[in-house]
Amino acid sequence: MRKSTLDELRNQMDDLDLQLIDLINQREVLLQKHEELRTERAEKVLERIACHSNGPIRKETLISLFKLLDQAVPASSRKLLVSRKSKLENTVVTVAGEEIGGAYPILVAGPCAVESEEQVDAAARAVKAQGLHFLRGGAFKPRTSPYDFQGLGEEGLCLLKQAGTRYGLSVISEIVDPRDLEMASGYLDVIQIGARNMQNFELLKEAGRIRKPILLKRGLSASIDEFIHAAEYIMVHGNDQIILCERGIRTYEKATRNTLDITAVPLLKQETHLPVLVDVTHSTGRKDLLVPAAKAALAIGADGVMAEVHPNPKQALSDASQQMNFTEFESFVSELEKSGLYKNNKV
Ligand code: PEP
Ligand code: MN
Repeated sequence: MRKSTLDELRNQMDDLDLQLIDLINQREVLLQKHEELRTERAEKVLERIACHSNGPIRKETLISLFKLLDQAVPASSRKLLVSRKSKLENTVVTVAGEEIGGAYPILVAGPCAVESEEQVDAAARAVKAQGLHFLRGGAFKPRTSPYDFQGLGEEGLCLLKQAGTRYGLSVISEIVDPRDLEMASGYLDVIQIGARNMQNFELLKEAGRIRKPILLKRGLSASIDEFIHAAEYIMVHGNDQIILCERGIRTYEKATRNTLDITAVPLLKQETHLPVLVDVTHSTGRKDLLVPAAKAALAIGADGVMAEVHPNPKQALSDASQQMNFTEFESFVSELEKSGLYKNNKV
């Protein structure tokens, strides 16, 4: 081949290489602006290659190339969607007109588990009487022993919703199976993902696909980084209505049920733009520590506190020793109000 033809080909190749470099960089910039596109693109690209590429590069080779491209910038150096670096302003989750993560902290209370119509009705009445807007109650209970009360399932969700409607309260309950999310959305205002399921990635992905706020609790032994990445799973799959909840972690300390990691609150508020609650019941497991733990949570910047209350804790089918009775609950709310850290909406 003549030297001038070769030079021409070289120039053409150089040109193509430069265009390719520019294009793949542009592609990455777009993906970094909208990380949620990354997983979606990955699937679409595979389809496209299958339909549109006529060679001579083998389809398998192209697929590997695109997979490499998607991972070309390490995930650790990309901005997470839940990160403050992606969104400076706080995310406020509004449920029936009540803001979580807004100007004022909220309280969420209710029984560990929904046990009967009478029980959940009584709890809802007590929660309403203290001026709260959020009623919790488990219907699918993740219990250590398979012989323990497992919850009433869908019937429990139905009873919770009925009680919520009766007293004008928004309702929160834990869902453990991705297949139940759609059904549960018909009953619940906020769907809880519990500590034991914080890294149930299929559940997190499905929670990303539904249009309900998600209350995500920290895993039993989850680091802050793992907690943040669990929230990222939900957001990258399309749901940005996420509330984080610190609920204590496992340590060697036996004096409390778990160790309340109080600095998780400001850390999560700094690292993410999401609202952060503290569950004082499951973190301490001790009624005598509920008030100081709740005060600490609010003082350190939590957007709210969750606690368990039951009409007759001694008879409760789960967490009998740690649920407040109504008198204790009334004094819990009034202590928080007296501290000036919480404003009661009692009418
Ligand atoms: C609950 O809130 O009902 C519960 C089971 O808590 P956790 O998932 O934090 O243990
Ligand atoms: Mn409980």
